[in-house]
Amino acid sequence: MAREFDFYIVPTPIGNIKDITLRAIEVLKSVDLIACEDTRTTQKLLNHYDIKTKCFSYHKYNERERVGYFLQELSEGKKIALVSDAGTPMICDPGAVIVSELTNAGYSITALPGACAVTTFLSEIPRIGEEFAFIGFMPRGEKQIEDVCKRFVGHNFVFYESPERIIKTLKTIRSVRGNVKIALGRELSKLFEEIVVDEINDVIEHFNDGIKGEIVCMVYADSETDKSEMDFQIKELKSKGFKDKEISVILSTLCGFNKNEVYKKSLEM
Ligand code: SAM
Repeated sequence: MAREFDFYIVPTPIGNIKDITLRAIEVLKSVDLIACEDTRTTQKLLNHYDIKTKCFSYHKYNERERVGYFLQELSEGKKIALVSDAGTPMICDPGAVIVSELTNAGYSITALPGACAVTTFLSEIPRIGEEFAFIGFMPRGEKQIEDVCKRFVGHNFVFYESPERIIKTLKTIRSVRGNVKIALGRELSKLFEEIVVDEINDVIEHFNDGIKGEIVCMVYADSETDKSEMDFQIKELKSKGFKDKEISVILSTLCGFNKNEVYKKSLEM
């Protein structure tokens, strides 16, 4: 039998309506109330899964005033689930205030695993190592974007951005980091899902005619950008008939790459 909690944080799909767990549906059916950002958005999901639970709105503008209502309902023994419009609550979505208040008040809280744009994206792009920094939404100011680029120069960093601002943001990133390697994910789990992994110049060029949909982006650490440059050079020399050993000597001498690393990589290709 599943353990019972007072308050459930429940992820909902980020695009494909089927991306919801059996447990999430079960919890949404069993609780007394569902707190959601936009009742119309959540109601569509509830209708699809024939969930009859009553929902009430809870968003960043009424987060504080809703706390009293939550506490009152919980004190009467009611169970509540929190959802956002899409994905995981509290990942660039409201919920932080209520979770902090309910924790202080001693209520039991649990979060269900589920859909989230940043983790979906990270599990489908090429990466070396596990480390990454998540910025949330990229700040709007040019100076703030430059600061992020400088602060995370040695790390892969991931951010959310709107289609209206992404090209301008990429150009600001380029002004600080040069032709760095990036990955851009668009419309994940939807019909027009697209992943582009390339140098920033080529990504900007790729979206020359405009870009639509929901976007998540990662700027690779400088070390990984160097590696992509190394891979490119190895491929070029291989296509011209150079042997692995020759390639390692050429690239270590001319580009300063580690000779053994180049040799190993060249053998693998
Ligand atoms: N809570 C959500 C999550 O778990 O990912 C994020 C909510 S935030 C308000 C919305 C932003 O997440 C979008 O502007 C976009 O940057 C990103 N996002 C959400 N769904 C996405 C998708 N299907 N593909 C790409 N990015 C997505």
